[in-house]
Amino acid sequence: MSSTSSTPPVLKTSTFACAWCGLTVSTYAADGTRRNHCPSCLHSQHVLDHVEGGPSDCLGRMSPIAIAVLRTGDWTVVHRCVRCDELTSTPVCTDDNQLVLMRMAVRPLAQPPFPLEAFGTL
Ligand SMILES: [Zn+2]
Ligand SMILES: [Zn+2]
Repeated sequence: MSSTSSTPPVLKTSTFACAWCGLTVSTYAADGTRRNHCPSCLHSQHVLDHVEGGPSDCLGRMSPIAIAVLRTGDWTVVHRCVRCDELTSTPVCTDDNQLVLMRMAVRPLAQPPFPLEAFGTL
């Protein structure tokens, strides 16, 4: 081992204010992953356009509308921009509000668009 003192890694301390609940959110989660949505209410802001040709940086509020499960088993949150209707999906962070996540995941099961009684006659 060399005795040269290593410089400490630059701390990413940038934050943003949640567009929905006003919470001050750190741009990086505790494990170093980049986050773009509020861990409390899961709302986001449309600042990076992921779709080619789409209107970029419209700064509209992005509402969490659904949970998607990747092939790896990881959960992602699907956001829709209230201003330009663009859809994005971002990985769930470990400190995201699990109650809100679960509520979104079970919503289609709790409110099916067809009568559940039909399953009883199968
Ligand atoms: Zn929030
Ligand atoms: Zn937008």
